[in-house]
Amino acid sequence: MHFSYLAHRFSLIERTSSRLEIMQLLAELFAMLSPLEARIVAYLVLGQMRPPFLGTAFNFAAKGMEYVAARLLHCSVAEVAVLIEQKGDWGDVVSQGTWQSTIELDIATVYAELERLEDISGSGSFDAKISFLVQLLRSVDPLSAGYIVRIVMQNLRLGFSDMTMLDAFSWMLQGDKKAKPLIERAYNLVADIGRIAQLLVAGGLSALKSISVEVGVPIRPAAAERLMTAEDIIAKVGPCFAQPKYDGFRLQVHSCIDESGNRVIKFFSRNLLDMSSMFPDLAQAFSCMPYRELICEGEALAYDEANGSYLPFQETVKRKRKHQVDMFAQDMPLRLVLFDILYRDGISYIDTPLDERYPILQESIGACQSSVLDVAEQVVCDSSFELESYFLANIGQGLEGIMAKRKNGIYQPGKRNFNWIKLKRIERGLLDDTIDTVVLGYYFGQGRRAAFGIGALLVGVYNKERDCFETIAKIGTGLKDHEWVAMKKTCDEEKVMQQPTDVTVAEGLFPDVWVAPRIVIVVRADEITRSPIHTAGATKFPGFALRFPRFLSIRSDKSAVDATTVQEIQELFAQQKRVVF
Ligand code: AMP
Repeated sequence: MHFSYLAHRFSLIERTSSRLEIMQLLAELFAMLSPLEARIVAYLVLGQMRPPFLGTAFNFAAKGMEYVAARLLHCSVAEVAVLIEQKGDWGDVVSQGTWQSTIELDIATVYAELERLEDISGSGSFDAKISFLVQLLRSVDPLSAGYIVRIVMQNLRLGFSDMTMLDAFSWMLQGDKKAKPLIERAYNLVADIGRIAQLLVAGGLSALKSISVEVGVPIRPAAAERLMTAEDIIAKVGPCFAQPKYDGFRLQVHSCIDESGNRVIKFFSRNLLDMSSMFPDLAQAFSCMPYRELICEGEALAYDEANGSYLPFQETVKRKRKHQVDMFAQDMPLRLVLFDILYRDGISYIDTPLDERYPILQESIGACQSSVLDVAEQVVCDSSFELESYFLANIGQGLEGIMAKRKNGIYQPGKRNFNWIKLKRIERGLLDDTIDTVVLGYYFGQGRRAAFGIGALLVGVYNKERDCFETIAKIGTGLKDHEWVAMKKTCDEEKVMQQPTDVTVAEGLFPDVWVAPRIVIVVRADEITRSPIHTAGATKFPGFALRFPRFLSIRSDKSAVDATTVQEIQELFAQQKRVVF
């Protein structure tokens, strides 16, 4: 397929707001592609070159794009600066060019050129990248150039997530969404949307049979449901296991031996990014392992040697600052507390019940003989009294709560269900749990804050069924002055000129600046209430809102679609009504 045709399809999707139509347009598009093109387009429609764990690395600065646009539009860099200020999007700036392309490049050729652009590095690369990109853009039409530029600047958003693509694949194959569970199951095992697209286009649903757990390719992590009391948990799942809920940084560990016989350890974050370079000391801990291959999961925590306790998430993430990793390794040693095993030496354990998985985990981690690795404590709780006592003992030690786990629960990749149930501290407020929300925009603010250019945030939650974001709160507290300044900078990096098509906001709440739904922030609130203005869960008003919302922190390890969902808010609302203080 010619890239120009793909660009027209992109622009059609971008102008469509109905979720069903977007899905159908995608299905139509994939039906027209060859298997290899399907793989490429599956990445490109999400604004990526490859799956998140392999990363997209153009490192193309806005300054460089000014020169590119100036050369394409035959104007000065200063004029380009004015244009970008007006339009707010490099794709819109570039696509107003009037040049004519003489040849038609196909999708695979454009993709190969983009790979070459990524590879340009070293001294003189700033200029080399500019010349290379100008040449590529001149050989396609201006509309295509606009989309290429958005991909290079990593801000292509057509307004849907990978979940809509899974629906689209089903639609492509059989004209309905019924095959989605099967497709999703494969995607949960091998989190590479391009691979799934390629297989489906080449061989239909039966081609997915070849998909199984693969060391080096992240498995989409299982998630926990929540209930408010120990009684609720025992009523739901009966006697269960309980583990501490460690407040650390979730890592999926993949270990294998490469062709040269060297052990390779990879760490994937919850949002499936490759974090391997950041944990050299943890990687070292697996070096004596007697197994060729292993996939396990746990929480990385900073460990305070002085009083023998784990430090909370905020301390742990400081470690994420890419630089000075070694320095941190000395100042604040990290430990990894493993709570699950998914694969070992050719055997997948995801369908093995937890009571059989846990001893295998203990055996595997024990065999590493490392003081840096630990296995999560696990106790049996036969009654709500035992579960409650274990919970109290853990919060007494400063932990945020416990995880109750179904004894015979299998590991369900990418699923949130009652195989794992979190029980967190409840204080006097009606809602003590935190909510992971997505920033959708900000308001300039009044008074003293006006000086910062930001006074409140508009945040939302994710509606899984509709694959869109719906508002739940306006937040004006919880940030110190310097945090407002930093927040504005973070938001401005994701600023968009118009309301994104996958964001639902009542008109009275329109923010001064729209922000693409990418930044996840943790919010604490007193209560979930019904609201006549917020859209969360509202096919008809009222929706849900947070009462007295306060900003707590940014969650850089979560993607927007991993934020709290509307469906969870509905459950929390129902649970909160039942709790009597
Ligand atoms: P939440 O992020 O509040 O939905 O809680 C689920 C998270 O708790 C998981 O993603 C893990 O990162 C974390 N966690 C901490 N301790 C455990 C444990 N023992 N078992 C499973 N997950 C845990």
